[in-house]
Amino acid sequence: MGFLARLFNKLKGPSSSPAEQSIHVTKDAVWVYLKCDRCGEKLALRLRKSSEIQREEAGKQDYQMFINKTVIGNECFNRMQLRLEFDGMYRVVNKWLQNGAFISKNEYESGA
Ligand SMILES: [Zn+2]
Repeated sequence: MGFLARLFNKLKGPSSSPAEQSIHVTKDAVWVYLKCDRCGEKLALRLRKSSEIQREEAGKQDYQMFINKTVIGNECFNRMQLRLEFDGMYRVVNKWLQNGAFISKNEYESGA
């Protein structure tokens, strides 16, 4: 990687690179990368937009769509409670995770 490429990466900042983020929105799905608090297992969760995302009908909120999901990994029975809130463009405006932690895609792919 040349000097200019490195400079460019630096200017983009640490959180703007997709690989540094824990939530990736594709055309038909939302990917969430997380880690179990209990056993440390790393998980990549694929949530289908068509079936998992619900519309917020109340109208007053600062989000328009949301996902509530109980996540259970393969290594233990820890139940992680995930909630994501999106605006009308599927951009995440709020996120919560109980009993687990959000990790970046990089961290997930770096292996166990
Ligand atoms: Zn676990």
